[in-house]
Amino acid sequence: MSKQFEGQNIIEGYHIEVEQVLSNVKYNMYQFQNVHPYDIKCPVCLNVYLDPISCDSCMNHFCKECYQQKQSTKCPLCSHQCETRKAFPLLRQLLSQLKIRCHHFDQGKASIMNIGCQVIVDYDAYDKHVKQCDYSEEVCGLVDGKLQCNVIKFKKDIQNHRTYECNYRQCECCHCHQFFSSFKLQMHELKCEEALTRCPKCHTQIKIKDQSSHLLICDQNIEKCIYCSGEYAWHQLLIHQNECPQREVCCVGCSQKFTLSVYYIHQTNCPKFPQICPSCNQKVTREQFENHNFKDCLIYIKSQHDQEIQNLIQKHKQLEIELGKKDTIIKFSNRFKDPDIFLNLDKTNALVKQTANKKKDRFVLFNNPISEQRKQWKFKCSQVKSSWYAVGITELSTLHSQKKYQDIGHGSYLVSSNGTMYNNHKDDQNSKESDFRINTNDIIIIIVDLEADLLILYNTTQNLSLEIEAAFEGKDFYGCACLRTAGDEIQIIQ
Ligand SMILES: [Zn+2]
Ligand SMILES: [Zn+2]
Ligand SMILES: [Zn+2]
Ligand SMILES: [Zn+2]
Ligand SMILES: [Zn+2]
Ligand SMILES: [Zn+2]
Ligand SMILES: [Zn+2]
Ligand SMILES: [Zn+2]
Repeated sequence: MSKQFEGQNIIEGYHIEVEQVLSNVKYNMYQFQNVHPYDIKCPVCLNVYLDPISCDSCMNHFCKECYQQKQSTKCPLCSHQCETRKAFPLLRQLLSQLKIRCHHFDQGKASIMNIGCQVIVDYDAYDKHVKQCDYSEEVCGLVDGKLQCNVIKFKKDIQNHRTYECNYRQCECCHCHQFFSSFKLQMHELKCEEALTRCPKCHTQIKIKDQSSHLLICDQNIEKCIYCSGEYAWHQLLIHQNECPQREVCCVGCSQKFTLSVYYIHQTNCPKFPQICPSCNQKVTREQFENHNFKDCLIYIKSQHDQEIQNLIQKHKQLEIELGKKDTIIKFSNRFKDPDIFLNLDKTNALVKQTANKKKDRFVLFNNPISEQRKQWKFKCSQVKSSWYAVGITELSTLHSQKKYQDIGHGSYLVSSNGTMYNNHKDDQNSKESDFRINTNDIIIIIVDLEADLLILYNTTQNLSLEIEAAFEGKDFYGCACLRTAGDEIQIIQ
């Protein structure tokens, strides 16, 4: 090997230094087998050309990498700003005649088995060989969760490592047939629920997971009775203890304590022991039962019935309260409304969706008439499009007949957005102007005074109020809105 370095000893030290700086150097001088490499070296890295190019101006050659790595675009030899071109065919031919020994040739020298890669290849095939060389190193890389095998092996040995040696290779548990990383398998097998063990009592072979359920039925799992100290298999013990003659019990009549065997006799003559009268089902003591007669039976039965009636009355009251609660929630009615008015899902918002310009009043009424529980409510007038947007109360009949509002008897008590009042029975309040107004987004509170025959309206947004005299006369009136124009919208606020 040293013979090949003849004639270049002077620069040897220098080129090793450069080699260490350039990380991409792929081969060393001593790898070349058949040609003296002295004259085909790159003047920058002083190594045999790697993928050479030439300077357009001075015709000198450089490794492509060496030329590209310097800061300026000037040629390192002639210092001209110049283009580069392909290497001369002669140089490429010269290079392709080189034979190179793979640089893995001393890999694994330390081990007796491995003497490194012995391959010698053509210059042009060198790149390809190094990439697939058996002696290139590879990290194993098998993983288990976040852990990874970082063992480094030669390419030729890596498959063997992954299959037979790696701590991370998947191995099957011989009991449950699940797969685990090799280093976890041993731990798993020690506690695998499918593994077999022997019952410590009867020595039958059972699975570890069945151990506790087996002990419940194992005939050899003997325990002592806490009362008589008799020995019983575990599954018979509970039954025995329940009926063990030595068990201490308390008489349900006189509260004295006895062993079970004595108690059986005692309960047949204890004067305090409870009996059930076959006629009235009443529980009485033995001594009371001797004097218990037909009259006692009747008294007891009556008291039972009275109690049941009380319970029913209580339940009924409860139901009425709940119904009352539901009834006080005020909503619009899907039945009592003009077909052009549309309600939202919870029936608290009404909107006119008619686009043809038919001039008519469109009523929407509440789902229940005004009552003691439903005599006050709040509107938000979300969209007021015309002066005939009105709120108030009306009778059901209004829905189905055209009314003349200038004459009394039209069935409604209303005020419209421009302040006109409409009064069912009182001429001087019917079709008459007032100071009341309703604009878009105003909040209106309406209170019906059933005692005083009065309808009171507050516009809390504009701070206006209005009283309309009414005559309820026991008729059903409904809270209502009277809308007219497409886009008119009103909402009940609870
Ligand atoms: Zn170079
Ligand atoms: Zn090799
Ligand atoms: Zn591994
Ligand atoms: Zn297992
Ligand atoms: Zn057993
Ligand atoms: Zn016992
Ligand atoms: Zn007793
Ligand atoms: Zn009785």
